[in-house]
Amino acid sequence: MSGGLFQIAEPGQSSIKEACAVPVVGIDLGTTNSLVATVTAGEPRCLSVDDHGGTLLPSVVEYFSGGVVVGGPALADAANRPRDTIVSVKRFMGRGPDDAELKRRFSPYEFAAGEGQVVRFKVAGGREVTPVEVSAEILRALRARAEAQLGGELAPGEKLQAVITVPAYFDDGQRQATKDAGRLAGIEVLRLLNEPTAAALAYGLDKKSEGLFAVYDLGGGTFDVSILKLAGGVFEVKATAGDTALGGDDFDRALADEVLKLEGLDEGKLSAGARRDLLMQARAAKHALTDGPSATLCVPTGDSFETWTVTRAQLDKAIAPIIARTAVACRRALKDAGLDPERPALDGVILVGGATRTPAVRAFVERLFGQPPLADIDPDQVVALGAAVQADLLAGSGPREDVLLLDVIPLSLGLEMMGGVVEKIIHRNSTVPTGAKQTFTTYADRQTGFDLHVVQGERETVDGCRSLARFQLKGIPPMPAGMARLEVTFLVDADGILHVTAREETTGQESAIDVKPSYGLSDDEVERMLLESYEFAEQDVELRTLAEQRVEAERILSATRAALAVDGRLLDEAERRPIDQALAALERARVTTDAQSIRAAVEGLDLASKEFAERRMNEGITRAMAGRTVGDVERKLE
Ligand code: ADP
Ligand code: MG
Repeated sequence: MSGGLFQIAEPGQSSIKEACAVPVVGIDLGTTNSLVATVTAGEPRCLSVDDHGGTLLPSVVEYFSGGVVVGGPALADAANRPRDTIVSVKRFMGRGPDDAELKRRFSPYEFAAGEGQVVRFKVAGGREVTPVEVSAEILRALRARAEAQLGGELAPGEKLQAVITVPAYFDDGQRQATKDAGRLAGIEVLRLLNEPTAAALAYGLDKKSEGLFAVYDLGGGTFDVSILKLAGGVFEVKATAGDTALGGDDFDRALADEVLKLEGLDEGKLSAGARRDLLMQARAAKHALTDGPSATLCVPTGDSFETWTVTRAQLDKAIAPIIARTAVACRRALKDAGLDPERPALDGVILVGGATRTPAVRAFVERLFGQPPLADIDPDQVVALGAAVQADLLAGSGPREDVLLLDVIPLSLGLEMMGGVVEKIIHRNSTVPTGAKQTFTTYADRQTGFDLHVVQGERETVDGCRSLARFQLKGIPPMPAGMARLEVTFLVDADGILHVTAREETTGQESAIDVKPSYGLSDDEVERMLLESYEFAEQDVELRTLAEQRVEAERILSATRAALAVDGRLLDEAERRPIDQALAALERARVTTDAQSIRAAVEGLDLASKEFAERRMNEGITRAMAGRTVGDVERKLE
């Protein structure tokens, strides 16, 4: 006898994820700071980029006639060698040489005469470098650091593979320039990824089925806000807005000004060096005020210094007008995404960028969006971490090169259960490759096989789903119902092929089948099946409950009758009557469409036969002690 599957009350679900062997990294090529991250043992982490274990590489490139210096030392020199030290090169990526506005705003540099299509900086030694080349220096520095830490795993001649992030608003030219910079740095660019999407990936939001998220990114000198829509496992940028001249560096200036004002000092009287020094101190104080209530600064007063204590309240007051300016862009983005800016229905708000560490910014964001933002992941690292997650996903998806950004399973995959209900094993929108296991048992006594019916769809009943394959597992010795343990594994590989394996654990019997789930399904059909699943959701749940209750009713009815046939002698007439009555009540309830009353009748029978079940158990033990095995007893039943 071959029969259907019966679900064990608490199915053990486990995920099987393929390990990835090639070292791949995620890179946040930032305006102010750049980072590189990788996934090890399933967790993304930032790699160190300097000799002190720091993870932020200042995006600063200093040119000498004989060479180049990148990062912290270059930043320290920026004030002394402004023409040869390029900061914020990202602002120039993919821009034409005639962008007068750019030149006016960021003018310490000398630009080469407008020949060709790109901006050229004139730097030490008469060299002319393009923004792509400058960015490539930053990427080369990151690559060297990453390879030093992952190098052992890179085969000789093998290029470091990376996902590099770009602002969501970057146009084709800016994206191409970023890719070129990667290539120039000797990196194989697997993909460019939008910064807000990377942040969402770092928070694992892609594992939700759908949602709307706001990403608030306040960096050193730029502010970006994006509204992301997650659907079908893929993020879509619904709207972006921002201000390219607004960032944490403005806080430094505001705090320095506030201190000068309180001191009664005139900024005009300060030397250029003293002013720079004050700015550096203001920045350090700002960072200290993120964690503490007050900080000290050494304020230059002509020829001497004065120690000055600033409080968080003073910082908050000084930067309030700057923070308030971000609201304009946020409201615009919300509106563009079709949301009500006053009461945006968002499923989450993510903080990105070092400047969002400032408590006043967090409080502002919470008020603006009407919910506390996600901030457990370091906001300077979150983009790089998300890029690493994406890189890992891409590398883990096997040899196929044309794998989609996030290949997902469009419709859930499951098995038919007794009563025609569907048990979903792999849920819709899971990213491939993916897998899951679940254990089932036999429904009937002496069931020697299982009928497995693999289906695809969102409905709770088999009728509403698409049949993919049927197969059987045979050769299980007859056992009482519920004794066999059937472990079913669903594995979807990177090519979208579903491998189903069924194994009965006590006997080791195994059976398997391969199916291509998406085969033959057009987008329209997938769409239709999804729409139906929403439309019938409520009705489906009711049908499912009813089907499950009916299955349970039948199981307990036949089990009780079988027990009465064998051990009925253990009961006298008065004891037997309530059981018969409960059996009859369940028989009547079973044919109705009321799941509640079926359940009540099942419970009634359970209660009525409790004493009987206990007696049978004691009897069974006595019999076993009399030298008979449980197997003998079962054989007698046949
Ligand atoms: P970008 O994306 O432009 O490269 P970052 O995300 O690295 O920039 O942000 C840099 C900004 O973050 C700077 O203005 C810096 O002062 C600020 N910042 C970094 N750490 C803190 C902190 N602990 N408290 C407040 N601001 C911070
Ligand atoms: Mg950034």
